[in-house]
Order: sequence, then structure tokens, then C-alpha cells
Amino acid sequence: MSITLNLTEIKQSLPSHVTLVAVSKTKSHTEIMEAYTAGQRIFGENKIQEMTQKWENLPKDIIWHMIGHVQRNKVKYMAGYVSLIHGVDSFRLLKEIDKQAQKHNRVIDCLLQMHIAEEESKFGLNETELHDIISSNEFAELRNIRITGLMGMATFTNDVEQIRREFKSLANFFKHAQEKLSDCTTLSMGMSGDYHMAIDEGSTMVRIGSSIFGARNYNR
Ligand SMILES: *Cc1c(COP(=O)(O)O)cnc(C)c1O
Repeated sequence: MSITLNLTEIKQSLPSHVTLVAVSKTKSHTEIMEAYTAGQRIFGENKIQEMTQKWENLPKDIIWHMIGHVQRNKVKYMAGYVSLIHGVDSFRLLKEIDKQAQKHNRVIDCLLQMHIAEEESKFGLNETELHDIISSNEFAELRNIRITGLMGMATFTNDVEQIRREFKSLANFFKHAQEKLSDCTTLSMGMSGDYHMAIDEGSTMVRIGSSIFGARNYNR
């Protein structure tokens, strides 16, 4: 299967209210350009250095999303161009993004990452931490970030009912966050293996890598 065919099929299967992020981590410029030529403009990467290198070399109308865990000391490298940061999981990180965005005279859209997986290894906020951030005075003073939604990753398991439970809990957090935040319209939920279920449970943005580009090669 070609990237173009995969992409076309996936796009046709998505409802119109769902945005597709093509996850291009580890993929070459040539592979990304095939998806670009097929009309895709939003790409997701999980390493700031790799994303920046691609941003420098690929067409400037590509919309770059950071979907991975973000180290505070690296925010500065993407602050000038990143369109959406999915994995914001602390107030300290949010403050750093605000500070770097200010230097570039822009507002950076962010999603707060929630911990929904029953396994412990995944990053993210719990309900109390979410509440504490969005109701704090310090948060209200940040002018150069905008929380446009929530993101989460389900447990890596074959147990579909567990995945559904985790998606439902994220959709629930999303509803609560929407009551507090006027710009909160994006629910980033679902990857290659589970995006149909994620959409059933209310996702508005899916992050799809291997179903578009094929399996990733991490031998580098
Ligand atoms: C890699 C990655 C994806 C895409 O995973 P696939 O299973 O290849 O679709 C989605 N979200 C995040 C946060 C990722 O790191």
C-alpha cells in the first residue's frame, strides 16, 4: 500500500468534524512529501530536534504539531513555528511555553495531556491537577498560550473495553474543561489502532502514524 492510498482511505473514513494529524516521527522527508503532495498539511512529531530539522527543510505551509513529551529546556527551539503542543502536563511547562511564545510575539495553542491509562508509564495530569491549573490565578495571567483542548493516550492493550473506558474518562474530563475554558474545542484522542473507537467516544482530532506511513523503524 502506498502512503497516498492509505491517506486517502483514512481521510474518507473520518467524519468532517475530525482533524487528521499525520504522525511522521522517524519518517523521511520523501515520505512526508508524498503525504504533502496528497494534500496533507498537519504533521505530528514527538521529538523537538527532529521536528525542527523537518520544519527547516520542508514546505513552510506545513502545520507542525508536537505530540510527544516536552522538556522545558527545549521549548525555545520550536516556539517560533509550532502550531499546537499536545503534551502539556504541568503548569511549569505551560509557563515556559508562554515565556518563549512571548519572545516570538505569538500565542501558542496547547492541549493539556490527561493521564487516562490504567498503566503507570504514561504521562499526564489527573483530574485534580487539571482543575488546579485551569482555576489558578497564575494561569489566568498567561497571555501567550491558549488551551484549546485535551489530549490523552489509552493503555497499550488488546482489551478493547479497557480502551473504551479510558476514552470515556477523557471525554468526561473534556466536558468539564469546556465549562471552564472558552477555547476548549479539541479532543486529541485515537491512534492507528483505536481511532474509530476514539471518534465514537467524542474525539475531534486523531493522531495516525503507522496506518499512513507503515511501521516505524527505530534502529537509528
Ligand atoms: C507515535 C504516536 C502516535 C501514532 O501512533 P500510530 O500507532 O503509529 O498511529 C500517536 N500519538 C502519539 C502521542 C504518538 O507518540
